[in-house]
Amino acid sequence: MANHRLRVDWPACQARGLCFELLPEAIELDDWGFPVITGEITPELAAAARAAVRGCPRMALRLLPA
Ligand code: SF4
Repeated sequence: MANHRLRVDWPACQARGLCFELLPEAIELDDWGFPVITGEITPELAAAARAAVRGCPRMALRLLPA
């Protein structure tokens, strides 16, 4: 299975940080609480990444082919 990448819809994101809690392996938060994607989503992280996409209260995260 190939790697994927996460994309943030910045106008929709409200910096609530839930994605960081659900996927700390690939997301950090900047000083204002906005997510910083730290790398590609490997097959091992795919399930957690999908959970983060589903869990975003603003539907601001998308999982795309790398
Ligand atoms: S969970 Fe969604 S709204 Fe919250 S910081 Fe992450 S992308 Fe933004």
